[in-house]
Amino acid sequence: MRLLLVEDEPLLSAQLKDVLQKASYVVDVVHDGIEAEYQGLHEPYDLAVLDLGLPGRDGLSVLRAWRQANRSMPVLILTARDNWHDKVVGIDAGADDYLTKPFHSEELLARVRALLRRAAGHASADICCGPLRLDPRQARIWLDDAPLELTSHEYRVLAYLMMHRGEAVSRTELTEHIYAQDFDRDSNTIEVFIARLRRKIPAHLIQTLRGLGYRLACPGETSAP
Ligand code: CA
Repeated sequence: MRLLLVEDEPLLSAQLKDVLQKASYVVDVVHDGIEAEYQGLHEPYDLAVLDLGLPGRDGLSVLRAWRQANRSMPVLILTARDNWHDKVVGIDAGADDYLTKPFHSEELLARVRALLRRAAGHASADICCGPLRLDPRQARIWLDDAPLELTSHEYRVLAYLMMHRGEAVSRTELTEHIYAQDFDRDSNTIEVFIARLRRKIPAHLIQTLRGLGYRLACPGETSAP
């Protein structure tokens, strides 16, 4: 899952980036509204954390610009303490949730998990597929009752497929959602991760769809075309 973090305060943005990365998300950080608007319009983020008070362009204008361009990723806004007006206007502008500064990092992570889950159409905290269970709180995936030993990239690939289980997911899409922007990306490595994952879980669960990419097939469920 790839997140956009928009926060102009250097200490706070570094701290939040660290918290999110430790939870296994890949994070692009921008510090002003103009770059935030551009990134949100042009990169496929799974979620954005958006501060409202920003240099260049304020967060509400950024959010409105994204929504007007039909960018539908969940957006969690960060507001100053007790500014109820910001919250109301923010939600009306298309925010999905808000956090009031200062907040605890655990609360940020809980809200991020909930928004990602809702966006993927899952109501419960854990996401299951046959013998696999994804626990986003621990950033772990279990096979039957044993935790899988996965590298951070393997985890991101499998977690993304689980969030989109039953759907065709292209190599490009996987690449875009498991690497941050400043990372040297190579979509050929996706094949390597898939091969390694097939040795760690029942291989037939990850189907190769010629010309389309991959699909995580969950036994007992009908898959989307
Ligand atoms: Ca700010």
